[in-house]
Amino acid sequence: MEALGVFIEREIELVSLTQQDDLATAVLRKKDGSEETVHPHWVIGCDGAHSAVRRLTQTPFEGASIGLSFFLGDLEIEGPDSPGDELSIHLSQGDVVFMGRISDRIVRLIVALHGQKEEDVRKELSIEDFQSAIDRVGVRVTVRGAEWKTPFHARDSQAKQYRIGNVFLAGDASHIHSPVGGQGMNTGIQDVANLAWKIAAVSRGADRALLAATMKNAAKLAAIC
Ligand SMILES: Cc1cc2nc3c(=O)[nH]c(=O)nc-3n(C[C@H](O)[C@H](O)[C@H](O)COP(=O)(O)OP(=O)(O)OC[C@H]3O[C@@H](n4cnc5c(N)ncnc54)[C@H](O)[C@@H]3O)c2cc1C
Repeated sequence: MEALGVFIEREIELVSLTQQDDLATAVLRKKDGSEETVHPHWVIGCDGAHSAVRRLTQTPFEGASIGLSFFLGDLEIEGPDSPGDELSIHLSQGDVVFMGRISDRIVRLIVALHGQKEEDVRKELSIEDFQSAIDRVGVRVTVRGAEWKTPFHARDSQAKQYRIGNVFLAGDASHIHSPVGGQGMNTGIQDVANLAWKIAAVSRGADRALLAATMKNAAKLAAIC
């Protein structure tokens, strides 16, 4: 990107966003707490499932839980079902434990359980929670420690609008669905590849109607997913 003259600034948080006429006003907070105000013509909110752009534009995120919870982590485990130098997958009535060895000590685990309520998935996932998720699938391993671990509950949700004036939502900020099928990132990249060339063309004088077509196609794509 730098070769193309695009520089990424990291650890900068969008804290406020308003629009007037054709210009947005965005307040950005840096790591040292200082703030900068910018006035972009276009804003693309690619800021994930908990999107600040979506919140700041008061765009509803409509949808519901699909009852599927994931427990992810890099764990120290032992027991007869610990994988060697291979990927291993255990299935039990639709629940899944996936294990892949990363080093002599650490194994990446992904556990997917059905019939879960969103409120039952704790923000702080304990080793005991992880162990009982694994036990439910009947995999014979004991968790001894974790480098990191995190829970995740799948929802099907879509922003009511993908465009609010000159502000657009893309990626998980605009639509989320089950990770099964591996299409979340893929659809997000397609959203933005499509949007980016159209914004570039409109900025160079193309008809603004081009951008209306983007929104129709993005909504269709999300509906298909
Ligand atoms: C278990 C699991 C497995 C998955 N497997 C696949 C797969 O196989 N294939 C696939 O295509 N997809 C997969 N996905 C989905 C994929 O991870 C997401 O769809 C994708 O990462 C979304 O990208 P994004 O850029 O839209 O959002 P994110 O990756 O969430 O990025 C948003 C960024 O915005 C930043 N941000 C948030 N708020 C602010 C703010 N106020 N100011 C500035 N920055 C902010 C965040 O720090 C973050 O860097 C999977 C997801 C999960 C949970």
